[in-house]
Order: sequence, then structure tokens, then C-alpha cells
Amino acid sequence: MNEKTSYLLSETQLVRLRCKHKDCGATLEIPLEKLNDAKYRMCRACERKFQVTDGPMEEVNFMQNFHGALIGLKKASANLEIELVGPMKKDTRLRLFAAME
Ligand SMILES: [Zn+2]
Repeated sequence: MNEKTSYLLSETQLVRLRCKHKDCGATLEIPLEKLNDAKYRMCRACERKFQVTDGPMEEVNFMQNFHGALIGLKKASANLEIELVGPMKKDTRLRLFAAME
């Protein structure tokens, strides 16, 4: 009943980027190893920036930092397992809500 979705970092191969720009909503599946590619600073569908950089010269790229952390921690998976836990599955949540009414 409290089933949550979870993902092991060691088993993760793809990262989905979901564009939240108005009238787009594209979902891009990117191999984890390629997440640091500069082309993923923007949506490949609507070509608008994701605003994943910071600094006057955009010298900080959070997508590249995220990629570095994921790759580095995945390499450490012999000693450490990281599990990403999401909310309950949508169907389950709807059933629980209905049961409370
Ligand atoms: Zn887009």
C-alpha cells in the first residue's frame, strides 16, 4: 500500500530530461555517460535553455556537476549503493485518496 518507486544508481543507464517550457513538454532520454554533453543545456525539441548554468560566464554547469557526481558515485557502487526514492506510484496514490473520501 505504501509502495514507492525506487531506483538504484548502480543500475541506472538512462536519465530522462523533461522540458517544462510552455507548450513543449518533450522528454529526452540521455545515456548517463553523455549527460555532460553541452547540447543538453537546452531542450533538443524546443531549443530553449534549461538554465542549468550559473555565473557571469556560465562557468558553473550544474548538469555537468550532476553527471560527475552520478558517474563518480556509480563507480563507488562496490562499497556504496545509492537508491533514489520517488513518490508512490500514481495509481496507488489515487486509490489511497479515493479510500479517504
Ligand atoms: Zn522543450
